Amino acid sequence: MNAPYRVKGETGEWEVVVGLEVHAQITASKAKLFSGAATAFGAEPNTQVSLVDAAMPGMLPVPNRECIRQAVRTGMALDAKINRWSRFDRKNYFYADLPQGYQISQLYHPLVGEGELEVLVDEKDENSAKRIGIERIHVEQDAGKLMHDQHATMSYVDLNRCGVALMEIVSRPDMRSPAEAGAYLRKLRSILRYVGSCDGNMEEGSMRADVNVSVRKPGGEFGTRTETKNVNSVRFVMAVVEHEAMRQVELIEGGGSVAQETRLFDPDKGVTRSLRSKEDAHDYRYFPDPDLLPLELDESFIEECRGTLPELPDAKRKRYEGLGITAYNSSVLTAEVETARWFDLLLESGAEPKQASNWVVAELFGALNRRAQSVEQSPVSPAQAAELLKLVADGTISGTIAKQVFEIMLETGQGASAIVEERGLKQTSDAGAIDAAIDKILADNADKVADYKAGKQQLFGFFVGQTMKAMAGTANPQVVNDRLRTKLS
Ligand code: ADP
Ligand code: MG
Repeated sequence: MNAPYRVKGETGEWEVVVGLEVHAQITASKAKLFSGAATAFGAEPNTQVSLVDAAMPGMLPVPNRECIRQAVRTGMALDAKINRWSRFDRKNYFYADLPQGYQISQLYHPLVGEGELEVLVDEKDENSAKRIGIERIHVEQDAGKLMHDQHATMSYVDLNRCGVALMEIVSRPDMRSPAEAGAYLRKLRSILRYVGSCDGNMEEGSMRADVNVSVRKPGGEFGTRTETKNVNSVRFVMAVVEHEAMRQVELIEGGGSVAQETRLFDPDKGVTRSLRSKEDAHDYRYFPDPDLLPLELDESFIEECRGTLPELPDAKRKRYEGLGITAYNSSVLTAEVETARWFDLLLESGAEPKQASNWVVAELFGALNRRAQSVEQSPVSPAQAAELLKLVADGTISGTIAKQVFEIMLETGQGASAIVEERGLKQTSDAGAIDAAIDKILADNADKVADYKAGKQQLFGFFVGQTMKAMAGTANPQVVNDRLRTKLS
């Protein structure tokens, strides 16, 4: 187990308490939550705005079934309770990026209730597993974007994002360190990407987190929290937790108290700054949206959602472990959905699981890293890799030769068998050929043979190496060893 994370202060040690509210855009839907306008990232400003999104008088919202479907699937993937009856509320506030004057959200009756997520705080340590509670997932509209840097004296507004569907995934205050917050966010992102509801692209803002942080004496009452808004990377979330914990401890120990407020993170300086005092629910005058009926889900809809859930990372990891793959490899191979998909295809092509996992983690990842390519861009397909691995497994080529063959495959796109055939790389156990090579090496190195016989045992490796080299790596190492021992004894 990891040592508990503690912040050292003058009055002793403090514990940090973290809860995350993650806004995940439902990128699986090409249309907005209540209108048919497009949602593609990076479009020209104000080109994806319907009359509903611009809040023209008399326009009526119509719920997008696909968005609801994706949020339900996401809830199922988080083992959460799916509420058969939910309702949309208006959250009223004025801001220039919100033409309606309210956001349609769900406060009182969210679509998804309690769930939970298991994380490995340290990816390399099976014993660092921790369960983190999910309080709810509700569906809501995103707001537009203000641009302050386009003109010297004016701000511009882009309404493309107005009305885009978000899932707000609210955790329980169950995290106790920056590492736990980071692990939670990474795992949540991984699950969203497996499910396909959200692409998890934090740079493009399709996933962002509000980070709630408080401190307390271990075991004591929860302290007052601050909420740092719209943090857009795992690293920044961890930095916010660390910085806020420290700031709050210093504040309390200096005789002050933490104000319940909303803060902003400055990534350049690594600090948070006060934005405004925290609002309460009653400040927003929430009330049920009169333009929308409550959502009622029937069993066939729920079953359809459940039926389209993929195998999720935890289940896949356990399955891999059951195939004899190490815990570490299983966790690495399942962390990203693209890697897992590639590996599954490799297994379907007949590769032996343990050998295949070691090869992917060491050789394939190594090569892709050097070439700055993602697994989806791999020049070698799973079927081609299976062919290579089979040649090693049945002794046609050695592991060393396999590395060379793989390099050639990456460069030329040729198949493994063709390369081995064309370049004469087959492993040979032909004692005649091996003996001939050995005899030449021993004759050329008579002095070393004498040293060896006089007791310099470590020269054996030298003779093996020279023989392998003379045969361009194709000799069966076991036969080389056996023959050398016989000849040198
Ligand atoms: P709001 O919308 O007002 O921020 P929510 O209920 O949506 O309130 O979110 C509350 C978030 O704050 C949850 O993620 C919860 O886990 C977290 N939280 C609540 N109390 C604390 C606390 N004392 N310290 C840290 N996080 C907290
Ligand atoms: Mg909040």
